[in-house]
Amino acid sequence: MTLLTEPKRKPYNTGLRDPETVSGSHNRVLKAVFTNLQRYSLHDGPGLRTILFLKGCPLSCLWCSNPETQNFQPELLYSPNMCIGCGSCLQACGYGAVSVQGKKMAFDKGKCTVCGDCVDACPTAAVSVAGKLIGVDEAVEALEADAVFFRRSGGGVTISGGEPSQHPDFTAEVLKKLRKRGIHTAVETCGYAEVRRLFRTVEYADLVLYDLKIADPEGHKKATGADNAVILENAKKISAEKEIIFRIPVIPGYTDSKENLTAIARLVTGIKRQPEVHLLPYHAFGTGKYQGIGKEYKLPEVEPPSEEKMQECKRIFEDKKIAVKLL
Ligand code: SF4
Ligand code: SF4
Repeated sequence: MTLLTEPKRKPYNTGLRDPETVSGSHNRVLKAVFTNLQRYSLHDGPGLRTILFLKGCPLSCLWCSNPETQNFQPELLYSPNMCIGCGSCLQACGYGAVSVQGKKMAFDKGKCTVCGDCVDACPTAAVSVAGKLIGVDEAVEALEADAVFFRRSGGGVTISGGEPSQHPDFTAEVLKKLRKRGIHTAVETCGYAEVRRLFRTVEYADLVLYDLKIADPEGHKKATGADNAVILENAKKISAEKEIIFRIPVIPGYTDSKENLTAIARLVTGIKRQPEVHLLPYHAFGTGKYQGIGKEYKLPEVEPPSEEKMQECKRIFEDKKIAVKLL
């Protein structure tokens, strides 16, 4: 089954002016742009999970490990380490977007229409397109293919991103159909959305994985691009209606201070009685993707936290009688 529904020659970004033109119900085109469908995940809800990563996020966290999901539009990904310099992409491109730079290639984003011709021409998969349109039924079919694993492991489907609340109707309709088939459903969200939009996004989610990063509003804004007031307000409202787990990325020098984690512990106990928290250690797996999409990675000096440090962070929550798990 192919997941790509767009005609080959049509640029991917045609008609994708904002997320609502893709996934909003007003134009009856319930599609969304996704970057990846990842199977057998153990960290994004109970049991074995299949995760659909949607594209487009209102935040831009400095440590983001999926930078190709931030932009709403499909975009070209170039991996120089896989490039053998054969020049096939240069010949294939009808838009003058490819040039030679030393032994490697350069792709001009201003000229590139993301038509995908260079992707087809490349013999080593050094170029790819991050982001494809997918419809609700197509997504449901691909996601429920793992139903046997869900049943055996107590798992299910998690919609992540990017930010699912940028595709509220699409997310709701996909999860509604999966739920009807008896599949456990979850949404991972940064919580930065207009509240009705967020409620629509999680309407058919059995579980909400809700990210909290930095308690101090100014610090939050510096590291993510937005104040956390809306996020905290929404957390209260969502947790009153939904099963929720708070997820905190442990980013050395940014979120891992005793002061920040103590403040977050205080916040989650204020938001919900007997909250559950998951701590996610920083990893640098996504750094290569920044180069691939022509962005600068802002935290090259940060190292993953040690096991000892993670235990220290965990104790901050345990001391406050908060159920906490290291992922
Ligand atoms: S996707 Fe490739 S072939 Fe198409 S315009 Fe961009 S660089 Fe050229
Ligand atoms: S076609 Fe692929 S391998 Fe050949 S130069 Fe272009 S990116 Fe490199």
